[in-house]
Amino acid sequence: MTVKTRFAPSPTGYLHIGGLRTALYSYLFARKNSGRFLLRIEDTDRERFVPGSIESLINTLERVGLTHDEGPRISSGRLVVDGEHGPYLQSERITIYHAHISQLLASGFAYRCFCSKDRLDTLRHSHELAKMPSKYDRACLKFTKEEVEHKLNMKEPSVVRMRVPEGSTTFSDAIRGPITIQNEQIDDQILLKTDGFPTYHLAVVVDDHLMGVTHVIRGDEWISSAPKHLMLYQAFGWTPPVLAHLPLILNPDHSKLSKRQGDVAVEDYLDSGYLPEALINFVALLGFNPSGDREIYTVDELTAAFDLEKINKSGAVFNREKLDWMNGQYIRILSPEELMNRAV
Ligand code: GLU
Repeated sequence: MTVKTRFAPSPTGYLHIGGLRTALYSYLFARKNSGRFLLRIEDTDRERFVPGSIESLINTLERVGLTHDEGPRISSGRLVVDGEHGPYLQSERITIYHAHISQLLASGFAYRCFCSKDRLDTLRHSHELAKMPSKYDRACLKFTKEEVEHKLNMKEPSVVRMRVPEGSTTFSDAIRGPITIQNEQIDDQILLKTDGFPTYHLAVVVDDHLMGVTHVIRGDEWISSAPKHLMLYQAFGWTPPVLAHLPLILNPDHSKLSKRQGDVAVEDYLDSGYLPEALINFVALLGFNPSGDREIYTVDELTAAFDLEKINKSGAVFNREKLDWMNGQYIRILSPEELMNRAV
């Protein structure tokens, strides 16, 4: 089976340093295994969509040399979305998600929920007062098929929720090792919103499966979502991909890396004179070091050495001085002509 990894950013602004590391590791893993690297745009959250950010993400990935084999491209200044598993923009895949939702509703793995925001707020509040974890109480499960039909005919707004099965979910993360979670801790996640758009959880599972993704490499913030995703794979009768959750990137004081654009936007680093090869080398070492006896590596060397098992479990500190030092190393080995070209 061909190895396939993907980078699946949401177009909410600029490419974050953490996103660059996810994309780089996914790229290195695909190259190392003679596989394919796919780019997918996760734009189902219309409120957070920033116009122009898809183009800027693609341009930034290109500037640092992380070229994808499948997914959207810019051609003559326009966004082109083709490829055998496309479309690669989730907002263009809505009918695919609806077909899968129908399947889950028919098999009883999902159900319609008509609860108002007010009711859900009251419920959450009462859970807070009782110091209980807040979970949907499945009030809408009481409706018969006919009642649900009637409500839908009356155009009552609704969402579709997954019905979390009983028991527990176990998986082995390629970086963290075995993880088990009791399903009762998991809320009946909304899969389809009132606006007819899927949530991330449904879309990511359907797309990773249909696009043939074999290895999902992504940030640690998604690890708590993994059990929900695995339940969906099971409900569809699909084999899940290998999951690898990368450790956090930290500030030198070990707090979570800042979100201030000036500190973490890849395009800002490139625009202010950091060489792409220095940035890639630096970001590669945030959580992985091929040998430990040196710090300068070409992409080919990184590819040859890359191994999910070699990724650290603990957070990686983003050290700006080290980046400056590394950039200096790369600048010094440029020929005078090359240095002039780059400076221009
Ligand atoms: N769209 C998600 C993000 O922006 C992707 C998460 C994933 O890779 O599954 O981070």
